[in-house]
Amino acid sequence: MKVQLRDNQPDIVNDILASFHNGTKVVVLNAPTGVGKSIINMMVTKELGSGYTTTPLRTLVDQYRDTVLRFDEDELGWVVMGRGAYECPHQINNENERFDTLSDSEKQDEAKIRKHQYRLQAMTADGAPCTEDNPKYYVGEGKGTAGKKRQYVSECPVRNKCPYYKDRDRAMISQNAVSTFDYFMYGIYSALKRSESNGDEQQYDGNDETTTWQIRDVLTIDEAHSLPNKLVDFFTITVSERTLPGFPRDLLLKKIEEIKRNLKPGENFSVKVSDEFGVMLTEYMNLQDQEMAYLKNLADESDENVEVDYQGKQMPLDDAIRKHKKFLYRLKFVRSSVDSKVEFVYHSDDTGIYLKPYSAKAYMETLWGMFDHILLSSATFFDVETYLADLGLEKYSWKLIDVPSSFDSVNGPIMTVSSLYLNRKNFDTTIQKVVEKVDEILDQHPDDRGIVHCFSGTYRSAIMKGSQRKERIMTHDSFNRTEVLKNFTSSTEGNKVLVSVNMGEGVDLKDDLARFQIIVKAPFLPIGDPWIALHKERSDRWYKAQTIIELMQMAGRIVRSKEDYGVTYIVDRNAWNLLEQNRKLLPSWFVQRMDAGEAVRKKKIDSQMNDILADL
Ligand code: SF4
Repeated sequence: MKVQLRDNQPDIVNDILASFHNGTKVVVLNAPTGVGKSIINMMVTKELGSGYTTTPLRTLVDQYRDTVLRFDEDELGWVVMGRGAYECPHQINNENERFDTLSDSEKQDEAKIRKHQYRLQAMTADGAPCTEDNPKYYVGEGKGTAGKKRQYVSECPVRNKCPYYKDRDRAMISQNAVSTFDYFMYGIYSALKRSESNGDEQQYDGNDETTTWQIRDVLTIDEAHSLPNKLVDFFTITVSERTLPGFPRDLLLKKIEEIKRNLKPGENFSVKVSDEFGVMLTEYMNLQDQEMAYLKNLADESDENVEVDYQGKQMPLDDAIRKHKKFLYRLKFVRSSVDSKVEFVYHSDDTGIYLKPYSAKAYMETLWGMFDHILLSSATFFDVETYLADLGLEKYSWKLIDVPSSFDSVNGPIMTVSSLYLNRKNFDTTIQKVVEKVDEILDQHPDDRGIVHCFSGTYRSAIMKGSQRKERIMTHDSFNRTEVLKNFTSSTEGNKVLVSVNMGEGVDLKDDLARFQIIVKAPFLPIGDPWIALHKERSDRWYKAQTIIELMQMAGRIVRSKEDYGVTYIVDRNAWNLLEQNRKLLPSWFVQRMDAGEAVRKKKIDSQMNDILADL
């Protein structure tokens, strides 16, 4: 099928292309739900030549895959996911062959079958032999006078049947390689590091993960509103028993305290800690390399897949090697993230030590320079200037394209419904009124399904406990979140209301799935987190921007198409005021829906006044 652009899509594509052709490097596309950003983005890349497309939202990559497959005649690109999403046929073949050698009674042993199935599931392309620098592929036991010896070859015997490489190879020769955010970042960042150390700017060499990450014309990042924070998360180093088992954490903490105590004027605490950590990490990596050599040696010398103790767990030697390969692969990346140019914010708790970059822009400088054009798209950009500065993109020529909504804003009013200013201190004195307000809104929608965004577990518990509409409300916890959401979205029947936490993003409640939603509390980030506290201290504007983006995301959970409709109610007056004070920086679609909400609210007040007057 060929792409047929609809409504204002051709104009948006032309606007973006004209901006790029006029010398603009960065285009920020602020376009509401329903505009069709993915097809617009892909058509722009098609016109410009070649590109990479990625997004921090994993489910969106699936949508890109659908688009690519649907419009196959246009050859828009190809999608490749992370290695963990693909089976590794080489390892699976070996495991099946091993299983076949078991006796019938062994096979029938339920525990063994379960173990077999579990092992098959774990055999993904992540940690497969081909992730190593000098891979060796086990092909079975040799025969002969020397006895049964494990035999290896240096090329994967089923490389041409490998689903991962099929997608990867096709994506890399296609005009537009679409991938998950982590896959893109690992690939391109590792390639950059290698090219820096080789002094080669154009052509990357190295192992198979990096050879194909070449410079292209355009980089597109969809759902990019949270990109600065996603990048910080991506480069954050967690030193815990789970991530770096056996790392001398106590010693690192001791050294950090020493640095703090002995810091001289003019010395940079962050740089000193980063250098110290870098030294310790290099020593740790040497030990891990030795562990790998030991495991491989054991495999070479053993006649069978013996059980070994790996990080406190008994497991077959092959599994331990696979796990350790995966681990070394990640470790290399962690080492490359320790950089003196980066300001880290440290904090530690019972679970580990966290080295979080204050900003990811130092990491991204070279990467931005690789592309002539960068297209960032989302429905919820706010304060674009601050956003770009956070990414280190403000120094380039940039343009914001703000696309008005093609939906009638009357179909999705956003309105304030109380004069309660909620905060932690007045929780006890306001919560009863909050619960009553929630019940009142539920009564206004007796036959509709809806969602309540609580922001915190404290509000959720209080609403679940205090609401008089218990027959309608349901909730989830952190363990059954996905299951509950799946159940809730599997039917449009009834008038159930989901009382939720953390469902402000990536949840699609179209049409009858939800006809109303309640935003209970302004989603201010917790300042108990030192990284957030430091950001707030340096820029209150940044802090407010995070809350506003979250509010816009929540508001976008319902009213997903032109025909859809639903009301968004905001209980916390802090949230409404924040939006009002920043109207000029909000996307036009959002302001239109706020205005529609105000019109409904005023009409309601007028009608109530008329009723009162009529009764006099
Ligand atoms: S190339 Fe071979 S070892 Fe690597 S993931 Fe594919 S099948 Fe597995």
